Amino acid sequence: MNTPNVYDAEPIPQSARAEIERLLQSGDLFRYTAASDAPVALLEREFADALGAKYALAVSSCSAALFLSLKALGLPRDARVLIPAFTFAAVPSSIVHADCVPVLCEVGDNYRIDLHDFEAKLDDTISAVIISHMRGHTSDMDAILALCDARDIPVIEDAAHSLGTTWHGKNIGTLGRVGCFSFQSYKLLNGGEGGILVTDDADLVARAIIMSGAYEHNWSKHPVLHAAFARWQNKLPLYNLRMNNLSAAVVRPQLGEITRRVADGRRNHDYVAARLNAEPCFDVPRKLDPEERAPDSLQFNLVGMSTDQAEAFSALSAAQGVKVQIFGLSQDNARAFWNWKFLGDLPELPQTRAMLMKACDIRLPARLGFADLDQITDVLTGSAREVLASTPRAAE
Ligand SMILES: *Cc1c(COP(=O)(O)O)cnc(C)c1O
Repeated sequence: MNTPNVYDAEPIPQSARAEIERLLQSGDLFRYTAASDAPVALLEREFADALGAKYALAVSSCSAALFLSLKALGLPRDARVLIPAFTFAAVPSSIVHADCVPVLCEVGDNYRIDLHDFEAKLDDTISAVIISHMRGHTSDMDAILALCDARDIPVIEDAAHSLGTTWHGKNIGTLGRVGCFSFQSYKLLNGGEGGILVTDDADLVARAIIMSGAYEHNWSKHPVLHAAFARWQNKLPLYNLRMNNLSAAVVRPQLGEITRRVADGRRNHDYVAARLNAEPCFDVPRKLDPEERAPDSLQFNLVGMSTDQAEAFSALSAAQGVKVQIFGLSQDNARAFWNWKFLGDLPELPQTRAMLMKACDIRLPARLGFADLDQITDVLTGSAREVLASTPRAAE
């Protein structure tokens, strides 16, 4: 059967071509060569404006943005950073990269941070928090910010997959001290690779700008209070994690596509979610009330299926052209915390583990139409029914 291709990205807007041609002609690929208005600088201004943030710094990846955020907070070696146990391996890796220690907290079966475990682990050994809005699912930011503000603990938002999501109408990524986004090809804006951080904190962004590789007085090309830079000149390492002009030229024309991609992604998600929720063996967790989502994928839990049945469901769907990733069952999955062996001794997080063993992940790009969505949903429901008809249901 010919099922919809969920991996291809949308074409890069035609309007990118003239600028790319100009860059190729001039060879002006380095962000600090031009005196002003380099594509990277323009992207930073446009992205900050689009999000309602004061400052933005474009870098080589979201992982680089997370790393620089931790360094810019001035965290000492071995500082403990609290993160959700359901995230992408890049998040604990950025903490290791910054010579800090990740502390994992439990995540519920709605893919959001378990606030009891979060509060219990937010003790005075924690120096910072990274909230990873994994797959665009927003945790209760009101509760999290209240708990962290009361203890004066800075919050970094990993909004890699949350561009366009809002919380009480405010953009995700602008709620904490710093927000980090990705332009890797599977995210809402496709630069191949790339990332950007946003913040309202002039001193923090000045430190991040210098460490990203604004050597000598290249910082003067950033629209930030210059006093902040004078304070840090020559006192910080230069990690050279800059973005190049070609990446910015590819991303900038896509900014105008955000609204449509968000609206279409949400429409597609909600349509498939409603159909899946009509099946007793599937559960698509509800969003939280203050949250308006910008999904380009869909996660749902298997209800009352054994591990064998879950595997059979996944295999049967794949045989019909729909790839369902069950986070905890696919081998070496980078989002299953027990595979983060680079951390050394891993804690046991039974609640997060149980969620990962039944949580399914499918890509659902904004460009799909209803016929595509029906085809995908039919495969999922048909496979589940077939598996359940041929083997008895597991005990709840
Ligand atoms: C993609 C992603 C990252 C990593 O982004 P890169 O730009 O590839 O470094 C981090 N966190 C989440 C939640 C992601 O989805």
